[in-house]
Amino acid sequence: MARSTDATGTDLLRVDDELDEEERLVRDTVRRFAAERIMPHIADWFEAGTLPRDIVPELGQLGLLGMHLTGHGCAGLGPVAYGVACRELEAADSGLRSLVSVQGSLAMFPIWKFGSDAQKDEWLPRMASGQALGCFGLTEPDHGSDPSSMKTAARRDGSDWILNGTKMWITNGGIADIAVVWAGTEQGIRGFLVHRGARGFTTRNIHKKMSLRASVTSELHFDDVRLPADAVLPGVTGLKGPLSCLSEARFGIVWGVTGAARSCLEAAIDYATTREQFGRKIGAFQLTQAKLAWMLADLQRAQLLALRLGRLKQAGKITPEQVSLGKMANVRSAIDIARQARTILGANGITLEYPVIRHANNLESVLTYEGTEEIHALALGQALTGLSAYR
Ligand SMILES: Cc1cc2nc3c(=O)[nH]c(=O)nc-3n(C[C@H](O)[C@H](O)[C@H](O)COP(=O)(O)OP(=O)(O)OC[C@H]3O[C@@H](n4cnc5c(N)ncnc54)[C@H](O)[C@@H]3O)c2cc1C
Repeated sequence: MARSTDATGTDLLRVDDELDEEERLVRDTVRRFAAERIMPHIADWFEAGTLPRDIVPELGQLGLLGMHLTGHGCAGLGPVAYGVACRELEAADSGLRSLVSVQGSLAMFPIWKFGSDAQKDEWLPRMASGQALGCFGLTEPDHGSDPSSMKTAARRDGSDWILNGTKMWITNGGIADIAVVWAGTEQGIRGFLVHRGARGFTTRNIHKKMSLRASVTSELHFDDVRLPADAVLPGVTGLKGPLSCLSEARFGIVWGVTGAARSCLEAAIDYATTREQFGRKIGAFQLTQAKLAWMLADLQRAQLLALRLGRLKQAGKITPEQVSLGKMANVRSAIDIARQARTILGANGITLEYPVIRHANNLESVLTYEGTEEIHALALGQALTGLSAYR
């Protein structure tokens, strides 16, 4: 009997029918790019722990870097188009989506939102084209979920700033041309633009990662780095600066992880309909079908949630609590789907010949970064009860 999802793939509810023409064009373009340029190599890149730098200008040419920002060479597309792009990139690999999220939402967004005209002119066009790569330094070795306790500090010396401290787990850190670094000052937390090569600024890549291997993750070290007065982002003071960037990037995660989950479900369906045991396709066993059915239900719920958040953002109505709900729930759904898919693939589920274990491992990082599952639960708990349980 024919597979009844053939017409819509795994999109039984036809969620993608809600996309407009431009959003569909973005979907198809990014899906084709991922199929042709990324998928043939991604298992090798993951195994080698690398993502070639020459991918960055290609992403720029496609208009994917800072695509939801306007002016300065950015594509100026809507939030759903941005979300769909994240989904199709993460269907290939979370490392690739992370690079695009960090560039657009964590490095370009603060310059676009809080930067001076000179900072925007200097950096945004080059970052949109992929000539320059950025990173976002908030987390420190001893301060992750609680960035308000950060130790990295900048003090004035005449009109200059002197920056000292260490940032940890910084995506793109070792290959970035410009670091957006958040540091304590007398006035509160400020954002600084630190050029690669600034005297006293060194980076060290983190190795032995078992997750997000096709992504550079680094430690940034600042030892009396002298910065000119115009290195500070003039438009924001306080933790709301980095938190607003994170809200932008988390929105991309809400969408992105549905791509990883879809890839896992598709791999599981392919495997279940070809692999035979006990003289039958394993997809003919009721237990396997129940797993697939729940994976589909989880995936479609996650896709609907992403779309709803996208339309809220488009209408200018999205709140940080809504983004927390999406990040928490969709990453959890994606992890559950990846783990179920892994069981269906049996021993083959642990090899890089199939995408499933790569996605499952990647999603462990996505669960933790940009607010852990627990921190988003606390944000929602506070929204529901009015009581803060952070401390
Ligand atoms: C691959 C990767 C890439 C990353 N990229 C970046 C980047 O580009 N820039 C950047 O700045 N950071 C980045 N990070 C860091 C990431 O944001 C932090 O790891 C994250 O915020 C959690 O901090 P932590 O690891 O120090 O964990 P901790 O904060 O030490 O938390 C450990 C555990 O304690 C729990 N916990 C903490 N506080 C509470 C509480 N109040 N109540 C209940 N539970 C609590 C946490 O939920 C978690 O389960 C990256 C991390 C990874 C793994």
